[in-house]
Amino acid sequence: MPTIPFETEAEDGSWADLATLALHAGAAPDPVTGAILTPIYQSTTFVQEAVGVHKGYTYSRTGNPTVVALERRLAALEGAEHASCYGTGLAATTALALAFLKAGDRAVVSDVAYGGTIRLFHQILPPFGVQADFVDTSDLARLEEALRAPARLVLIETPANPTLKLTDIAESARLAHAAGALLVVDNTILTPALQRPFELGADIILHSTTKYIDGHNATVGGALVTRNAELHERLTFLRNATGTIQSPFNAWLTLQGVKTLPLRMERHCANALAVARFLEAHPRVTRVHYPGLDSFPQREIARRQHRAGGAGGALLAFEVEGGTEAGIRVLNNTRLCALAENLGSAETLITHPASMTHAAVPVEQRMATGITDGLVRLSVGLENPADLIEDLRRALSA
Ligand code: PLP
Repeated sequence: MPTIPFETEAEDGSWADLATLALHAGAAPDPVTGAILTPIYQSTTFVQEAVGVHKGYTYSRTGNPTVVALERRLAALEGAEHASCYGTGLAATTALALAFLKAGDRAVVSDVAYGGTIRLFHQILPPFGVQADFVDTSDLARLEEALRAPARLVLIETPANPTLKLTDIAESARLAHAAGALLVVDNTILTPALQRPFELGADIILHSTTKYIDGHNATVGGALVTRNAELHERLTFLRNATGTIQSPFNAWLTLQGVKTLPLRMERHCANALAVARFLEAHPRVTRVHYPGLDSFPQREIARRQHRAGGAGGALLAFEVEGGTEAGIRVLNNTRLCALAENLGSAETLITHPASMTHAAVPVEQRMATGITDGLVRLSVGLENPADLIEDLRRALSA
């Protein structure tokens, strides 16, 4: 994979240090027309000059130039050399499982994670002989204990969707590697703008690009990023063999969305902190889960592990006095915050995890991990925070 065609300043952990990469990595003006945007190479087929002689592309299930541009940009943003993009985030998780787990293998997965991830490891993989144990990876003693039995893969999501529980990436890497397992970090919620798992020892980073990477509610997509050429080769072989590559149009839209990732994450975080502080002070709100608040029980890990001075991200969850009924009343009464399944978009989205994103999680696991029927998840967008606060104030008094 070619390197980045320009110099960037050394990273300093500030908001600006990824700005140039987000705009330019992986793309160069089209050599034929000078078009500044990488074209949408909407072609299944690439003509070959002679048998075995081609320009690097043969068939768009195997590789496509627009998708490759996005892969190079995502790899650059994560500080890696390799990335492969998939039709959805879950297609990326599935590729990961098929590439590295076979019958008789075991995976250890964070007990709080996106509901679809849990469903995949709980319902889809076991009939193929792959066992998964869901472990509270925020407690390193439990992770260590789980790794006493052989495991091939440790998949952590931090912060975890939807309770925002954090897992220490560096310590997880140490424990996973000592047990001979790969460490995979789902970095969807913070993105490389706020968290750099390779610097902490991760082997593979997983993204649902559907969320902040695209950022505009326009596409579904996924990515697996790695610094290891062998792992990447296994993944692209698997992707070609099972046919799960991202479409060129979705890759093109995502290439436009990701340009403003550092800028958006800065504003997302500022808005989320303002909303979290409002909720924390509201008499009807009993609990706010947000890693940017000083009251967050794992604030110390956020300070250490998150960039930009321990930024909290843009996802938060809260509980309302009166439990389930009261929470649902808030969800049904916002006007600006849209009741919807997604997260990570410019528009603020409000979600009921128990019936929406995490409906597939077994009810005992859901309750044991704090995804109660009254939990409200808020993906704070880029609106004027005063308008968001007013919307929530009104919904809370409805
Ligand atoms: N990982 C996380 C943290 C998610 O929140 C999601 C979806 O909500 C996924 C993975 C799956 O991604 P997709 O919906 O693009 O398949």
